[in-house]
Amino acid sequence: MKKLRVSLATEKKIKKGQLLLEKKDFPHLDLDHQLVDLMDQRGQFLARAYLSPQNKGVGWVFAKQALDLDVAFFRALFEQAKAKRQSYRDDAGTTAYRLFNQEGDGFAGFSVDLYGDYALFSWYNLFVFEQREKISQAFRAVFPEVLGAYEKIRFKGPAYESAHLYGQAAPESFTILENGIRYSVFLNDGLMTGIFLDQHDVRASLSQGLATGKRVLNMFSYTAAFSVAAAMGGALETTSVDLAKRSRDLSQAHFLENGLSLDHHQFVVMDVFAYFKYAKRHGLVYDLIILDPPSFARNKKETFSVAKDYHRLIAQALDILAEGGLIVASTNAANLSRQKFKKELDKGFAGVKYHFLVEWGLPADFTYNKKDESSNYLKVFTIKVNQ
Ligand code: SAH
Repeated sequence: MKKLRVSLATEKKIKKGQLLLEKKDFPHLDLDHQLVDLMDQRGQFLARAYLSPQNKGVGWVFAKQALDLDVAFFRALFEQAKAKRQSYRDDAGTTAYRLFNQEGDGFAGFSVDLYGDYALFSWYNLFVFEQREKISQAFRAVFPEVLGAYEKIRFKGPAYESAHLYGQAAPESFTILENGIRYSVFLNDGLMTGIFLDQHDVRASLSQGLATGKRVLNMFSYTAAFSVAAAMGGALETTSVDLAKRSRDLSQAHFLENGLSLDHHQFVVMDVFAYFKYAKRHGLVYDLIILDPPSFARNKKETFSVAKDYHRLIAQALDILAEGGLIVASTNAANLSRQKFKKELDKGFAGVKYHFLVEWGLPADFTYNKKDESSNYLKVFTIKVNQ
């Protein structure tokens, strides 16, 4: 095992409970994809970590002792993770949620989601990917009720991004339940699955009162999961806007799954900025507008980044929002702090009065490292506009 001496700044950060190792912690690093022991300036053992670059950082601390990564190690983590989610298991109306969330459950670099009888593993770097035999063996021992599993590759390396991992094959698409609402999902078609599980508390608020009697506009709607929740919660009408052609069929499938007629629900394949213009020109008005863009997007003409352009979404939403209307503003950009996101929103309101009704982070099954704000990446605000 290699020993790496760290700077005082890195030592402090580790002692505070931060787990992500960054390039700036090791300016002269020439090691990769391996376990290391981190030592302080005096040569004393600090923590055990692994090195492997991913979308953020160059590695992760996982223990303050010299632990080995064997099946028993992962088995113990899965047992704790399972115990924490007892309330989800007891809820017959919900069959999809996160079973294991990276550093929040004791080991960063992979997550596991439950979709009905099947599990979905996401690997974020090559080191954890190489541990997957051990990890799935431990998982199967703790979750024997899971019939089969799939995997998603979320780093550059293997020539595939989605594959069957073990056990029974899942149907090409099938239905999961969330708070009694049905959603159609697929586990082996690209990186997406038809639903973003981390938004389940927001969908619950829509289906449990927030959307009742309202005209709802859902921007960047993907499979229209927010619209379905709103419709089930008594929305008068919903309009779902997404650039991707495929989103229309997937969205309609969600509505039909729940026995909803499509009469008052529209699916528009269009750029959101084009739709804002169209709606304004036609005098369309909405009581509730949901904004949930990708962190970064590029179309033929321009790029959109949450950090720089979110204010434009707010400004244009205000043009077509009914008096006293609501905006649900969401982002999953981990590199944008809650405070910076609020500033960006404020820029969009440009003097129009508003206040936050609810401020969401990640839901309880997405356990995160409480000592590192960036690990609670989801930021969603329900905003009342008093214009
Ligand atoms: N809100 C969704 C998830 C959104 S994922 C949910 O809760 O399920 C981001 C979506 O934005 C993708 O479906 C993508 O096709 C869409 N998108 C990206 N850029 C867009 C643009 N300029 N106009 C409309 N849709 C866009």
